[in-house]
Formats: sequence, C-alpha cells, structure tokens
Amino acid sequence: MSGLRIDHVGKTFGMFEALKDIDLDFPDGRFICLLGPSGCGKTTLLRVIAGLETPTTGRILLDGVDITAVPAHRRGLGMVFQSLALFPHLSVGENIAYGLRIRGADLATRRRKAEELLALVHLPGVADRPISQLSGGQRQRVAIARALALDPKLFLLDEPLSALDAKLREAMQVELKLLQQRLGISTIVVTHDQREALTMADIVVVMDHARVQQVGPPLEIYRNPVNAFVADFIGTSNLLPGVAEGQDTLSIDGIQVAGARPHGLARGSKAAISIRPEEVVVHPAGEQGPNRLPAEVTFVRDLGASVEIMLACARRELLAVTSPRERPDVRVGDRVVLELPPAACVVLPS
Ligand code: ATP
Repeated sequence: MSGLRIDHVGKTFGMFEALKDIDLDFPDGRFICLLGPSGCGKTTLLRVIAGLETPTTGRILLDGVDITAVPAHRRGLGMVFQSLALFPHLSVGENIAYGLRIRGADLATRRRKAEELLALVHLPGVADRPISQLSGGQRQRVAIARALALDPKLFLLDEPLSALDAKLREAMQVELKLLQQRLGISTIVVTHDQREALTMADIVVVMDHARVQQVGPPLEIYRNPVNAFVADFIGTSNLLPGVAEGQDTLSIDGIQVAGARPHGLARGSKAAISIRPEEVVVHPAGEQGPNRLPAEVTFVRDLGASVEIMLACARRELLAVTSPRERPDVRVGDRVVLELPPAACVVLPS
C-alpha cells in the first residue's frame, strides 16, 4: 500500500496531551497542509512523522511499512524548518549539497546537483555565494533546494514561509505549489494561515486542541465545515444560533431557516446556521420569500474589489460581501431583508 498512514497516534509530554488519537491516511503525491491555531499540535505531528518525536501510542507507516522506530535520518525525508537551519559558514551550493557530501558524492556530482536544484527553485548562478548575501526569500529557496537534494520520499515543511513579508509569502506559496506539482512529491506543510492552506493544499487537516477536527479538500472544508470551530477558522463565517425544528430546519428568532442537508438533529436541540458572507443576499425591506431574516445595516465598507456590508441580524453581527457591480443601494441605518439560500446554509450542532 503506497502512501503515509498515521495510525491512531497519541503524544504526551508529561501529563500534557499534545496529540490525541490522530488517525489519517494520505495517498502518495499529495500536498497536505496541517492547519490550526497556535499550540494545537501541528508541529508535534510533523515531528512524529519525521521521527524527531516518538509517539506515545500508535504507529507511522510509510508505503505499508511500520517506520515508528526508524530514526529520522533513515526515513528518507526532506525537511525545512521555520528557522531554515542553513549553515552560515558554507556557500549556497555547499549548503544544498551537504547531504550528498555526507553520502560520499564527488565534487562534480555535488556541483551539478546544486545547480540543478537552484534552477528548479528559480535561483540560478548563486552556488558560490555565501548564505549571508542572500535575501530572506532567496534563503527560503536554498532551504527548499537543500531538502530536495536527496530525492526524499516525503517533503516536510514547518511554517516555511512565516518569516517572509506578505507579498513574498503569497508568491512563494504559488511557487511551492507549482514545484510540488512538477515533482509529484508527497508534501506536508504546517501552517496557521488558512489562506496559505487554501492556496497550496490538495488536502487540509484542520486541528484544534490536539485533535483532528476535519480532513478534506480545501473547498469541501470551506463549503461544508463540520463544526463552528472549522467554519470560523477557515475563511469568514456568519454563525446564527437557533433551535432545531426538523432534520434540516432551525428556528432563528421565530423564523424558519432551512439548511442544505439533514443533520439528524433532535427537535428542540440547540444548533446554528453557518453561512459564508458572499452567500448572503441583501434585499430591500419588505421583500418576501423563504429563508429570509430582517436586518439593519450597521456599516458599509467599499474596498474597491468588493463591498462588505455589516448587519445586525437576530441579535448578531453579520457580514455580507458583494461585488461592486451587485452592490445593493444601502446606507447605515437602513432596514433590509437578508436571503440565506438553503444550499449555502450549513446546519451545525451546538
Ligand atoms: P505553533 O503554531 O505555536 O507552533 P503547534 O500547533 O505547532 O503550535 P506544537 O508545537 O505541536 O503546537 O505544540 C503543541 C503543544 O505541545 C503545546 O502546548 C506545546 O507547549 C506542547 N509541547 C510541544 N513540544 C513539547 C515538549 N517538548 N515538551 C513539553 N510540551 C511540549
């Protein structure tokens, strides 16, 4: 069986549980992002996969082989850390070919491989420069090239872009994704930035409090979050609490709002509707129809490319986002009606 299996892994540090029963299967060649807030256990999971931490319970299997007891340097992995951990006293080329040198490769082979990898990360002709002469983004590329030098089976990166400024980070996200697609190498990246995860990942693993909350393709998670934490962490979400009236219907302030799919909620139990801001449709007051709630405009923010309308609705603050072309003619204080299309309403148990 090809791919990575994380088989019911737990990790405790003393009394503290950093990972609780993590059970995941990743097919070969995927770009996976471990995403979650600070302290949720992402780095610990990556380190367990890398062999830098031993799990307290469970196993790690690579292509069907149990590697839990295999030391890190024999797992065939490439790693990039947040700190990059480049050797400052070595040149760029020597940094990249360091692993090859340890393996006994001759100078010509090392130089050729370093040049190849530098071309791959769009940094040709700098092999002889000292590391200290490179910018942050260039060092990032060198660290990636170095991690790829030994043709790893798995490519692991811990917050690799967090030290870069916003613009460069976005450019590097695209570059990293394209590089991974070209090489087809199984890649796992730790990030706390949901935008980064949505940009790069084939599969996102959302973690919180040492547990996996949801696993799936980015759009699936965006459209169908399984709980309020995921809905809130991935993108922006409006949450409207109510009481279940039927399998897929909630009563919110006495008004029935239907969701997309039955959720098996018991009548009378507390639940919420989650809806993305771009799905909320703002109508003039008085407009009739199902899944509509009265609201009042509290703020309008015109950002050029989009218009954000903040609203008070069912004693909650709600956000609607439209394109400038579809912008409704509303001002602060206007009474409006919000249409919440059932297909966009995700019912979440409380
Ligand atoms: P961040 O984004 O801040 O790096 P993270 O999700 O990567 O967070 P981890 O670094 O995996 O989180 O840490 C998870 C929890 O385990 C944290 O509460 C951390 O303090 C704890 N932890 C991690 N390593 C150790 C250790 N060696 N000894 C004790 N506690 C640890």
